[in-house]
Amino acid sequence: MSEQYKDFIQSKTEQIPVVSKTDVVVVGAGPAGLSAAVSAARNGCSVTLIERYHHLGGMASGGMVLVLDDMVNQGNEIVTTGLVTEFVDRMEHQDGAVYPPAEDCLKNWEMWQKWSRWGCINFHEPGMPQSILHAVAFDPDAWKRVSLDLVREAGVNLRLHSWFSEAVVEGGKVTGVICQTKLGRQAIMADMVIDATGDLDLAASAGADFIQGEYIVTTVFRLCDVDTDKAEAFEYANPEEYKKLDRMARRVIGGAWGMWWLKTPLPGIVWCNCPHMTGYDGLSPEGMVAAEYEGRERMMNLLAFARENIPGFENAKMLGAAEQLGIRQTRLLRGEYVVTKDDVTSRRHFADSVCRGRDYYTPYRALLPKGLDNLIVAGRHYSVDSDAQKSSREIPPCMVQGEAAGVAVSLALNSNSALRDVDATLIQKQMRAQGADPGDIPSSNALIEKALAS
Ligand SMILES: Cc1cc2nc3c(=O)[nH]c(=O)nc-3n(C[C@H](O)[C@H](O)[C@H](O)COP(=O)(O)OP(=O)(O)OC[C@H]3O[C@@H](n4cnc5c(N)ncnc54)[C@H](O)[C@@H]3O)c2cc1C
Repeated sequence: MSEQYKDFIQSKTEQIPVVSKTDVVVVGAGPAGLSAAVSAARNGCSVTLIERYHHLGGMASGGMVLVLDDMVNQGNEIVTTGLVTEFVDRMEHQDGAVYPPAEDCLKNWEMWQKWSRWGCINFHEPGMPQSILHAVAFDPDAWKRVSLDLVREAGVNLRLHSWFSEAVVEGGKVTGVICQTKLGRQAIMADMVIDATGDLDLAASAGADFIQGEYIVTTVFRLCDVDTDKAEAFEYANPEEYKKLDRMARRVIGGAWGMWWLKTPLPGIVWCNCPHMTGYDGLSPEGMVAAEYEGRERMMNLLAFARENIPGFENAKMLGAAEQLGIRQTRLLRGEYVVTKDDVTSRRHFADSVCRGRDYYTPYRALLPKGLDNLIVAGRHYSVDSDAQKSSREIPPCMVQGEAAGVAVSLALNSNSALRDVDATLIQKQMRAQGADPGDIPSSNALIEKALAS
């Protein structure tokens, strides 16, 4: 952020080549952006998808966030469907996804021992053992491969190695985006734009209102040559001793959820969703470099401890840290509706719900900025309070948001209208036709407030 710098220079004015003209441009190819691009293309739009890195997937692949959760409601029904289901099926077909069959989704110690180290447990449930639920452990490279397949099959014009830097705004509309590439700056012009950067880069540049959020950051990593059978056998045979060692391990890494290691579809390779670190700004290069140094130091300390002390980890080695620093929250849109913590925890249902995860619903209005007619957002930067975002930003619901945004832009283009004038019931109808659950039908435990319905 510029406030921390005191010297400035004036940049040169330049002519920027227009490299693509398209119905829709999607910036950011993480879970939300990928889904938005595929959904819009399948609905007949020409789509350009822009991504700064060399791979697709955002936090799901580059960030090595390797469990899909928030997929079921309290009644154990799968609520994140559509592209999410298609994605999981394709990864499973490539041996890149593991999840419990429906008959294993029970609350007992036998299933706990079978599935907890895959991360397929209800983390929100107090007491032990927690219920086993439908969550999916996956391989990051399978995610990248499936993403590329989906994008190519849908006919999306993919532009990797293109770092979005500036929105072109004319009369309340974003008419294009400018990206930095090795060849210099390039412009992509479009009728509709979708911000799926996770950090609201595009909408912020276009002048949308936002707040600056912050949450823990994590340098996720994987270890290889772990004898997971031995580690689990030790844990279940010696629960008290294991608990003690585990507490020490978590002290060494300095910030981790209850289960600091989880199994992955690749034998002997475990995923470590830690260390969690506070006080780093996920937008600032200085902050992210500092987090990289600190995270890598902490993970090597944990590896040394685990090798020395935890049965099954004697021969463990560092397979590597994620390519991307794990950023959970930065800018959050202040859009037509701001989802609150109370909305999430009370399971408030909205008449214009276009997406759901677990038991929370996202209204269409929470994807729309104020004052810009043709911009919609999808992903972890949607219009939500900081606290509410912490429990409503998992990968599957972000994908459903993206799928809904793709439908919304196609409807707006077809009716030549502003995005805020698109009838949310038409989005819901098309989502259903695509096999996705837009949350239009509330679960029996939802809080229904007619006053909020648009
Ligand atoms: C450490 C960690 C652990 C998590 N654990 C879980 C979990 O267990 N299960 C779960 O379901 N979710 C988990 N989450 C949450 C989840 O990973 C994210 O909320 C989700 O990936 C958000 O998806 P997104 O598409 O909105 O954003 P991202 O995944 O952040 O994707 C944004 C994409 O936009 C691209 N981009 C950004 N800026 C630009 C730019 N200027 N130009 C071009 N491209 C750009 C990025 O490179 C990236 O590809 C976790 C997150 C973190 C960080």
